[in-house]
Amino acid sequence: MLYSKIFFSCFSIFSGVILGSFINVVIYRLPNNQSILRPRSFCPNCKTNIPWYENIPIYSWIKLKGKCSKCRNAISIKYPLTELFTGILFLISFYAIPNNINFENFIITLLSNWTFTLILLPISIIDYDFLWIPNSIIKIGIIFGLVISIFSAILKNQEILINVFENLISGILGFLIIVLIMKFGELIFKKPAMGLGDAKLAGMIGLWLGFPGVIVSIWSSFLIAGLFIFIGLASKKISRHQLIPFGPFLSITGFLVWIYGETTFLKILF
Ligand SMILES: [Zn+2]
Repeated sequence: MLYSKIFFSCFSIFSGVILGSFINVVIYRLPNNQSILRPRSFCPNCKTNIPWYENIPIYSWIKLKGKCSKCRNAISIKYPLTELFTGILFLISFYAIPNNINFENFIITLLSNWTFTLILLPISIIDYDFLWIPNSIIKIGIIFGLVISIFSAILKNQEILINVFENLISGILGFLIIVLIMKFGELIFKKPAMGLGDAKLAGMIGLWLGFPGVIVSIWSSFLIAGLFIFIGLASKKISRHQLIPFGPFLSITGFLVWIYGETTFLKILF
């Protein structure tokens, strides 16, 4: 049991770090309107192809001291940090799974936790950097959300159609709640405080979480965002008219509610 735990922990971090380098491709290329699949990795400054041995996650960045080996152009620390963070999230996902479930359920839970990480993390980083939530990742999230809701219905011996329908309704609910708050905010503040991207993200997360997870996630993201803005304003780290991306808050609470379930999540929060 102990050995399998150590093995799975290492495997989680390793898989996370490897897939984190794929997230780097997504967060760099999507906002620049470049294809995710082609061409292979190159230096954005001198356009030299990066050979595989200079493209090893985290390790290569440290070895090259954060610079391109050809033109010495600086490579942001954001990239190795994204890889490391993905590894940590994969590990948290692994430890969040209850011990008493059978192997079959365990594997599907682990894979779905990791998939949700790979969807939410690039959305958060791109929204943080560009105040933009790409539709393409939302669509992928919706497709996987539907697939996983079918799988979970099979595993829990529930009616597939009812389960999928419930999740779809929760998704629509999530979308509508944000649209409503958005319209309400526009009436009060006379300027848009949130975008349609936030609503779509809340919808996609709602599809994954179902009810009442969707409500818990949206409500707590407003709570955490409010606290964050309050601290930011008080310490003068953010200015009054600065736009704050909401996607990262929705993603963090959505992820935590997903891996721990809403009851445990609320216990952790309070
Ligand atoms: Zn270069």
